[in-house]
Amino acid sequence: MKKDFLQIDVTKNYPEFRLEARFTVAEGEFFSLVGPSGCGKTTLLRLISGLARPDAGRIILDGRDLTTVPVAERKIGFVFQDYALFPHLTVGGNIEYGLKIRRLPADRRRERTKEMLALFEIEELADRRVQDLSGGERQRVALARALAPEPFLLLLDEPFAALDYGLRRRLRRELKELQTKLGFTAIFVTHQQEEALSLSGRLAVMEAGRILQVGTATEVYSHPAHPFVATFLGDANLIPCTVQTTPEGLKVHPRGGRLCLLPPGQEQLTGPHLLMVRPEDIVFTNEDPVYTGELVTLEYLGYGFAAEVKIGDGLVLKVLTGKEMDYALGERVGLAFRPQTARLIPLPT
Ligand code: ATP
Repeated sequence: MKKDFLQIDVTKNYPEFRLEARFTVAEGEFFSLVGPSGCGKTTLLRLISGLARPDAGRIILDGRDLTTVPVAERKIGFVFQDYALFPHLTVGGNIEYGLKIRRLPADRRRERTKEMLALFEIEELADRRVQDLSGGERQRVALARALAPEPFLLLLDEPFAALDYGLRRRLRRELKELQTKLGFTAIFVTHQQEEALSLSGRLAVMEAGRILQVGTATEVYSHPAHPFVATFLGDANLIPCTVQTTPEGLKVHPRGGRLCLLPPGQEQLTGPHLLMVRPEDIVFTNEDPVYTGELVTLEYLGYGFAAEVKIGDGLVLKVLTGKEMDYALGERVGLAFRPQTARLIPLPT
């Protein structure tokens, strides 16, 4: 497996937007780009596919500099949110289309189309027109069409966004299984954190044209390097604090709370930081709480309660409990968390 199969180091300037991206994707990796609308995900895919040219930098795929290679010669497959299937062609015709462009002989084209129809379990749809298909069936055809010519790289731009939640989850699982079986390299764009966390080997979290962090799903969820990453991938309490490195560990003074001792990390930290604690890692307690405050909201979720506790000085902490809830709105409560679950994040520059 080549670790630097795809190397991206590009800059693209639009009048009101600048994209700067630098990362690598390994051969056979399922890599996601996740970030809010307008952060530059589609622009980045367009640069990789050749639909747009970078203003500076290079894109290298399997050792070959793609920067000046035309779209059709890049051997990159594309799957879009709106499927972009050809309405005048049948399902089989759509799958065969890319093979014709690659000038495969007719018998090899038919054989490959059959293989793809079988792989996606859509043999019975082969002669149907694409406008007569359901959303899920269309997306299977779009994936089969993109994979038929055996691309070096598959780019997927929010492919399941138009589908309902249940179908999206099913197709997502199917895609992951297929990717593991066939081993193709893929870049999957989504603005949904759940999709990115559940699908990817590694993911890049983007904001406003920048990549803030690249890592595995657990790395970026549990060890966010930036406050935006912490809040984008889930609910997070970000508490201003000051840090001191001591021989016993990191002494953390969270605003409005009691001093905590965090296990020593790799780094020698000092000065102002943000202390990130996920709501699911905070518990109500009367014994030696880190914080005390007033329970100001309580929402029943079935599997537990979402609560907010007002500490004062503008600080409100979110707590996600289990099924038990011994406190009522307006009560004074104590809160604590295990130091191992808290993370220190540098203040953004
Ligand atoms: P979404 O999730 O909504 O699809 P995105 O993260 O894919 O968003 P992009 O489509 O890459 O975001 O757009 C990033 C920014 O670049 C936007 O502000 C957009 O207006 C701008 N942009 C994209 N293409 C062009 C263009 N051809 N000319 C000028 N500005 C552009």
